Amino acid sequence: MALKIHHLNCGTMCPHGAPFINGHGKITDHGHMVCHCLLIESNDGLVLVDTGFGIADVKNPNQRLGRAFTAGAGLIADYRETAYMQIKELGLNPQDVRHILVTHLDIDHAGGLSDFPDAKVHIFAPEFEAAMNPNWREKQRYKQHQWEHGVNWVTYQTQGEKWNGFDSIRAIPELKDEVLLVPLVGHTRGHSGVAVNTQDGWLLHCGDAYFHHNQVAAEPSCPIGLELFQRGLAMNNKDRVHNLQRLQHLAHSTKTEQVQLFSAHDPVELARYQ
Ligand SMILES: [Zn+2]
Repeated sequence: MALKIHHLNCGTMCPHGAPFINGHGKITDHGHMVCHCLLIESNDGLVLVDTGFGIADVKNPNQRLGRAFTAGAGLIADYRETAYMQIKELGLNPQDVRHILVTHLDIDHAGGLSDFPDAKVHIFAPEFEAAMNPNWREKQRYKQHQWEHGVNWVTYQTQGEKWNGFDSIRAIPELKDEVLLVPLVGHTRGHSGVAVNTQDGWLLHCGDAYFHHNQVAAEPSCPIGLELFQRGLAMNNKDRVHNLQRLQHLAHSTKTEQVQLFSAHDPVELARYQ
């Protein structure tokens, strides 16, 4: 096992009302959210976990993401934050990205797929089903043109395997059991975490299963804006809350060096790794 991990921010969002988003600052300050993605150097090429926003998104944000989202999220459209450009900046070749695991296909997670058209995209089957056949609510969140370039999808169902009490799926057979999809549904129909085995223990990318680092603290709390946002956006809020409770338990029932949790949009968690 020799996975080299890079923690990337593939998109910055600065919505209004810092105290409601980050839990501190003045009400007139903008909040700060990131798109925490992983780049893994593996013996089967480069692997991305989530892609944030891609080059086409930052080039034409209003057209590709919609004005309401771009303005509401306070998107900072910066092509230097795309995974594609950061991979080049690291001296690596974006064409070596062989695999992408997606936590889910919301607008702020799937934007970079079109920058890696040759990669296999590994996804929990219920999420694929939701994005390809969205109901009326899901139509608002998924942007079909983020994958209309033709994606090499690989879908997975659970097979009864477990990881720390959670269902788990060996997502990339070439990487044996070093990278796992860990279904954490609720935010979307097929939302999943991604567990990565590193030299320092397991990392669990929790995607949008929670949004603020204090949600998995010993005494959990969440700024009210983010709390309402998560509730309102959940496709199944009961499942979301249940999975959040399981993550809270995981965060405190294991030694931190064994499993480190982080979510997609919290800048405090990203800073721990950069
Ligand atoms: Zn998100």
